Amino acid sequence: MAGRSCMTTPRATDPLRIALGVLALAALACGPAEKDGIALVGGTVISGAGDAALPDAVVIIRNGTIEAVAARADIQIPKNTEIIDVSGRWIVPGFIDGHAHVARWALDRYVAAGVTAVRDLHGVRDSILNLKEEAGLGGLVSPRIFSASAMIDGPGTAELGATEVRTVSEARRAVDDRAVAGVDYLKIGPLVTAELLKGVLDEAGTFSFRTAGHLGVLDALAAASAGLASIEHLTGVPEAASRAPASLFEAHRAGKLRGWTAFERAWAGLDSASLHRVATALAESRVVLVPTLVMHETWSRLDDPAILSHPDLSTIPRVELENWNVPALIASAGWGTDVFAAFRASRPNQDLFVREFRSAGGKLVAGTNATRPMLIPGRSLHTELELLVAAGLTPLDAIQTATHNAAQLLGADSLGMVAPGKAADLIILTANPLADIRNTRAIERVMVRGQLYLADSLRTAF
Ligand SMILES: [Zn+2]
Repeated sequence: MAGRSCMTTPRATDPLRIALGVLALAALACGPAEKDGIALVGGTVISGAGDAALPDAVVIIRNGTIEAVAARADIQIPKNTEIIDVSGRWIVPGFIDGHAHVARWALDRYVAAGVTAVRDLHGVRDSILNLKEEAGLGGLVSPRIFSASAMIDGPGTAELGATEVRTVSEARRAVDDRAVAGVDYLKIGPLVTAELLKGVLDEAGTFSFRTAGHLGVLDALAAASAGLASIEHLTGVPEAASRAPASLFEAHRAGKLRGWTAFERAWAGLDSASLHRVATALAESRVVLVPTLVMHETWSRLDDPAILSHPDLSTIPRVELENWNVPALIASAGWGTDVFAAFRASRPNQDLFVREFRSAGGKLVAGTNATRPMLIPGRSLHTELELLVAAGLTPLDAIQTATHNAAQLLGADSLGMVAPGKAADLIILTANPLADIRNTRAIERVMVRGQLYLADSLRTAF
């Protein structure tokens, strides 16, 4: 704007035209300019990439993009920018739930909890891809949706909606179908064998797809060295750390809940030297782990009234609570008091493993498994951050697992950071998350795609 003159001296002879011309120019150059950007002024910025926090900062957002981030003393705010005072607040990148099963009812819950992107890892193919497309058009209060659509699983799959493949050529065809449908990456299920995985990964290479794995009949080291991009729920770790994994593989073949139960119980019996060996080797393989500690923790306490009456459950529609039907899940899995006690005995070894993997330089991503039973879209991601800190991560490190690390796993370079040139997805907090990770819940405003929402007004919808 600087340098543009307000007054001009038109040379035209028609006085009316001169007057109109002057008025039009004046409106362009001098009138009350339309605000076309937002400046968040005075907050402390946590970039999401692990840098030191920047106090008393200015963040300028225009056209859905973060235009500038700087100390207040180092920047001039352009005149056509709406100024929002956020002094005494913290600005963090919008959170990414790195393991989700998205449903339409959950979308506004995610945004209200500061989750501005989700990594969907299995759903009925057409409905999830339609939802992704609808969210992408911007008409919904919704996080950005990335999706694998339906998972690819081996013979005998029990996953509703999964694509069952029995041969390598079927595995390749399942990948091709997904490329046509427009998925973002691939997901394999627990019954995918080494041979089928090789077929999936080979074909995935043609389309540069990354592949996520919920392992069962494959151990984590074998799957990582084959080229899997991420391992979900720490699956395959007990199978890699155990001296006698055959009974675990057998349990996975016997059924989904049988496999999960045996896997979850096995952790308690693993020795620290084996856990260390597997954690180090996995870190070296560069595979990303999405531990979903909140799922392990919640499912180990489904007999605990405190879990069943958790205040976060108030955000779940009654019909969905009925669909979750926890008593039926417990009954069909055959989980009694002894099983829950065994699950809880496994938790310290899962935390130890996460800590070892992190200290060996491994990359972690926060995820929840929402909207599966008792995992709450949005809010469970904050519980995951608390559990990662309890396992030994610093709050700064934990925030990075839900922002920059998750964006890298998605291959979405524009997400997961408050930095110039990045997408304008961010959260404004009223308390310092570095002092106490529980403060990530102190959400005042959420911005997604450059659109700023008051968290309180979003919460009135549910
Ligand atoms: Zn899942």
